[in-house]
Amino acid sequence: METMNTDSVSEEENNISSLTNNDTGENITGVRSLMELIDIVTGRNLQNTQIQEDGGYADVIPFPFMAIVGQKEMKIALILSIINPLMGGVLLIGPRGTGKTIAVRSLIDLLPDVPRSLCFYGCLEEDIEKGGLDAVCPACAKKFAMGEPISVLDRVRLVELPLNAKIDDVIGGLDERATINDRLRLKRGILAQADRNILYVDEVNLLSDDVIDAILDASAQGHYTVRRGPVSATYRSRFVFVGSMNPEEGNLRPQIMDRFGLRVVMQGLKEPKERLEAYRRVNLYLNNPYQVVNNFKDETRIAKEEIQLAREMLPKAILNDEIANLGLKLISKLKIESLRAEITLFEAAKAYAVADGRIEVTRNDLLRVAPLALRLRRSSFITDYLSQQNQEKEELDKILDEVIRHQE
Ligand SMILES: [Zn+2]
Repeated sequence: METMNTDSVSEEENNISSLTNNDTGENITGVRSLMELIDIVTGRNLQNTQIQEDGGYADVIPFPFMAIVGQKEMKIALILSIINPLMGGVLLIGPRGTGKTIAVRSLIDLLPDVPRSLCFYGCLEEDIEKGGLDAVCPACAKKFAMGEPISVLDRVRLVELPLNAKIDDVIGGLDERATINDRLRLKRGILAQADRNILYVDEVNLLSDDVIDAILDASAQGHYTVRRGPVSATYRSRFVFVGSMNPEEGNLRPQIMDRFGLRVVMQGLKEPKERLEAYRRVNLYLNNPYQVVNNFKDETRIAKEEIQLAREMLPKAILNDEIANLGLKLISKLKIESLRAEITLFEAAKAYAVADGRIEVTRNDLLRVAPLALRLRRSSFITDYLSQQNQEKEELDKILDEVIRHQE
């Protein structure tokens, strides 16, 4: 079942086929780092469209991250955010149909398994390690004392916040069942369920202020506390946070915008060749998701391993004074006030360095992540953006007039 097009003539594709011309699950040789892998997978061709029964599971098999055509900046931002969640998450800004949701869903295949509680209250072994048996519910304390597991290793989940979520759904509230038993306990909210997983909020600009504030606080601190009358509880919330918005559907307040780490302004693919390739891959995926997953299984496996390595290297990453001062100069020249600018810039640069297999942050790392970390931090953004949008709309109308309306 050979699916590579090895007849391609361009230098890039020759390079790609020499690295990936196998379908047997053996290793791809010559990939030096995660960033190089991302370079390589862009533009890989698929031609075989053999159809198989998908057994009705099409919607639970994510489209492979490595099979997404183009959108390199988005891929880098998402990879950096799973390597270093301290950057404050990623905001994807763009119109519909640019693959935002597909990309976020595909991230789950790139992350290692995490312990998943077997209990309604979310008790984990790590609670006992930190706080003793009192840190978990009585049932879990009993199980643990008898040597039974209270969690299992499970794949990372994508927790998607429903658009109509209320603050009690998000942070949790009183559990009605528990109050009957004379033992007031709080119900875990979506943020606690997202701990160690990925939290995705589509249309983040349509959320109410209290909800988005709660998410951003929990994301930044890695934990949060809920108080309801005499009862309070603290939950872990160490999730990778990705928000997306379509600027045509409303603005994000500048204060909220500022709290996002990396920002990606997405556009549709420009090159007809890329658009055709994206269409082919999506079409193949819709007919036979397993085949697309299989075609990219080596890339996916390597990316997963590289991400794990990068996460382990991250605490050792070094940002020397010269590079740090360069970053500060950049921020000052751009007239950015917010302190979050340098936090994000430096944390992202560290993540970029380790993703490239290095510990020391270089000028080039700064150069690569600066647009992601620093764009849209000046307050004039929304005004400029809208004026650009209006200008584009006028141009589009004019061209529609020329090409279509005048033909009638
Ligand atoms: Zn428990």
